[in-house]
Amino acid sequence: MADRDGYIWFDGDMIPWRDAKVHLLTNTLHYGMGVFEGVRAYQTEQGPAIFRLTEHTDRLFRSAHIMRMPMPFSKEQINDAQKMVILKNDLAHAYLRPMVFYGAESMGLRPDQLQTHVMVAAWEWPSYMSPEAQELGIKVKTSSYSRHHVNVSMCKAKANGHYINSMLALQEALDCGAEEALLLDTEGYVAEGSGENVFIVRDGIIYTPDLTSALDGITRHTIFKLADELGIEVREKRITRDEVYVADEAFFTGTAAEVTPIREVDGRMIGAGRRGPVTTQIQSRYFEQVNGKRTVNTEWLHYVK
Ligand code: PMP
Repeated sequence: MADRDGYIWFDGDMIPWRDAKVHLLTNTLHYGMGVFEGVRAYQTEQGPAIFRLTEHTDRLFRSAHIMRMPMPFSKEQINDAQKMVILKNDLAHAYLRPMVFYGAESMGLRPDQLQTHVMVAAWEWPSYMSPEAQELGIKVKTSSYSRHHVNVSMCKAKANGHYINSMLALQEALDCGAEEALLLDTEGYVAEGSGENVFIVRDGIIYTPDLTSALDGITRHTIFKLADELGIEVREKRITRDEVYVADEAFFTGTAAEVTPIREVDGRMIGAGRRGPVTTQIQSRYFEQVNGKRTVNTEWLHYVK
């Protein structure tokens, strides 16, 4: 990943990919205090377009605010940086990674002398889940790790350190032969995947957990709007793991995972054990939308040229 051609935006400059390095005593590397985004740009007939760029940048700033990390750049600068890395790396489609972190100005937990740094990288990352997974659905395992409690770490922030929990849960799921983990909150209710929000479908209605212990996903918002346009009701409610087992359909959503059907959870087939009709409708709308094939919600696409 590190040894390749290209450019990364770092604190206002575009620097060669191989030179994009930080010191070993970088504070965020030690304590995990940092915030980031995962954003996608899609190839459209009018060139690459970043999907919901402003919403991602807004969330990045909200995350920094929650974590009390002063942002040294404006939202406009971060938006421009994201467009610039796509252009500079000549990417037709891309996954973008803006990250805000503390540097090597001092060690320890006191933030007094620390400075906030910002980077934006972009590369081609076509499918987080395999194309088969998007069609056939994935096997999921309920995790033995709980998702963060709000008084342990705050889930409204997309913070670096939160992902220790995600990585442990995902590794456990993979070891058990599943493709993704389903994390419950500390009270035992369904929260989210390791990097996705979760939805279930029952009798034509879509349900998703509220956001107490889950990230306020931008894809989740998109699904709310697309479902509304399709005349499908979405309800936020507490969901138990056995409600997932008896759902007609279930799916994950996320910028990386897009809309991924779930075919099995903890050895129980979900519905017919493949992508169901509601998931199919939502997923195809989603792909039409992100690829610039719809005439509505066009404000979600930010063309880089
Ligand atoms: N939950 C977690 C833990 C995530 O990491 C992500 C990915 N950012 C999501 C949900 C989905 O969020 P979004 O749709 O904004 O990518």
